[in-house]
Amino acid sequence: MELLKRQDVPAEHKWDLDSVYPTTQAWEEDYARVEAMVPQLTAYQGRLGESAGVLLEALRKRDELFQLLERVAVFAHMKEDEDTTNSTYQALSTRGQSLYARVTAAGSFMTPEILAIPSETIRAWLDQNPDLAAYRHELEDLLREKEHVRSPEVEELLAQMSEVGGAPRDIFGKLNHADMKFPRIKDEEGKEVELTHGRYLRFLESPVREVRKAAFDALYGTYAKFRNTLAATYSNSVKKDVVYARARRYPSARAAALSSTNVPESVYDNLIEAVHRNLPSLHRYVQLRGKLLKLDELHMYDLYTPMVAEVDKKIPYAEAVETILKALEPLGEEYCEVARKGLTTDRWVDIYENVGKRSGAYSFGAYTTKPFILMNYQETLDSMFTLAHELGHSMHSYFTRRHQPYHYGNYTIFVAEVASTFNEALLTDYLLKQTDDPKLKMYLINHQLESFRTTLYRQTMFAEFEHITHQRSEKGEALTADLLDEIYYGLNKQYYGTEGMVIDEAIALEWARIPHFYSAFYVYQYATGISAAVALSRQVLTEGKPAVDRYLTFLKSGSSDYSTNLLARAGVDMTSPEPVQQALDVFASLLDEMERLAG
Ligand SMILES: [Zn+2]
Repeated sequence: MELLKRQDVPAEHKWDLDSVYPTTQAWEEDYARVEAMVPQLTAYQGRLGESAGVLLEALRKRDELFQLLERVAVFAHMKEDEDTTNSTYQALSTRGQSLYARVTAAGSFMTPEILAIPSETIRAWLDQNPDLAAYRHELEDLLREKEHVRSPEVEELLAQMSEVGGAPRDIFGKLNHADMKFPRIKDEEGKEVELTHGRYLRFLESPVREVRKAAFDALYGTYAKFRNTLAATYSNSVKKDVVYARARRYPSARAAALSSTNVPESVYDNLIEAVHRNLPSLHRYVQLRGKLLKLDELHMYDLYTPMVAEVDKKIPYAEAVETILKALEPLGEEYCEVARKGLTTDRWVDIYENVGKRSGAYSFGAYTTKPFILMNYQETLDSMFTLAHELGHSMHSYFTRRHQPYHYGNYTIFVAEVASTFNEALLTDYLLKQTDDPKLKMYLINHQLESFRTTLYRQTMFAEFEHITHQRSEKGEALTADLLDEIYYGLNKQYYGTEGMVIDEAIALEWARIPHFYSAFYVYQYATGISAAVALSRQVLTEGKPAVDRYLTFLKSGSSDYSTNLLARAGVDMTSPEPVQQALDVFASLLDEMERLAG
């Protein structure tokens, strides 16, 4: 079927961006309004310490400005994604981005100025001024980091050095994406195709083993040629983290990173410990995979090819919506009513692919817009899961924005994937209960098992690698290519090493190609997120109403408190190992079921 041009897509298949700006003229007017408001904010520069009243006025002005700015920038970005070949919207999007950068820079005086006010003064103001108290959590959060703010001279130097600090990531990006070229390999039809980053995963998913192996060998063969450069780049990234943590007087790089979101280090350690305890389940999974693929020996390049047959089931969008809503029924009427409207008449969703449309899927929007969803809906089970996932994000945004003021109207990465993964868990549960078809059951269980393996186990292994490399660097060890290979290979052996599994030597070099390693101590949040989501979905399904109420309260809380507190109130204490264990128990029981079905 030929793709439609954007202008030919019927309105009911498109997201309702007209509700944000019906015309480009209306957008231009808000753009000008934002520009005019910037001096009104910068007028407070140097004045924040004057009184509670002045601080309050400045914070309100900031919120008013950013709330409008977000609307302007988000609209332009989404218009561009509708049709990336449209030069009018490309220009709009570029202007939106640069406006965002300019306004952010103009407002950057606020944090250091607030930090210069004595803590006792701010706390007294919070007690005296009830309007300012609406900002209590935000201000307390700032004060929490105060002991890590250095003298003005040191701060100035650190600010100037921050660009240099970005060098390793920058160099890695250039080497990895611009300069490195991979050889050609033979695809399933024996045709020579150039290996690229984008094609690598597709080749690894190939049912033809020679193709998987060729892609694997070609990829790591190429990285091997640059291994010393890549090791130097990565080790300097680690050193940078260590130097900054020391400059700010944190006990370690990890302590510094986790402190920014006030997550106790015990969360990180508990995650790793719980995953270690449950490695036997992963080993069982690997053996089952070998059995289903009918391979005596499983290699690292056999981990991504589907181990169950595709289910040939066409699911039109309207049917997907009904199924998802049925699956989410345990969340109650209000949730389902809002979701139904969002997916249909309220037109949150841009449903189908069209010429020039951005690929993939996301949930996006501003505080004052609908929580929009970009899809490239394909009428498959996978597509339906993606829709349920993005709907989870959008409902989280919807409830948060309705119940929180602008300054708490977003949520952190630590909790961001909870609402989305939660919906996937409920959808899986519902579909499994609905069917007796063993093929469909295996497909659904496999879908869940894969997300556990790639999100919980794999990201925890990444987290462990980062923890080890930073600790070694803090002890003064040099992170050479040999040492990095040794650490990474050792982890793979620990995680995947079981009978029938060959840990290919080349996998030792995987550390060299993971972009996330240049944002240290970030990926663990994917693993804690899925754990929290699975634990919460179990509570909702087994406990009913009390658990539902706690969960809905969580969705309405935005960033009004620290993430671990919000989750604790919802029913999962991430500072204890239980939620991760609960999630891994689910993994183990799904595995039991899969083993049974596989016979
Ligand atoms: Zn997501």
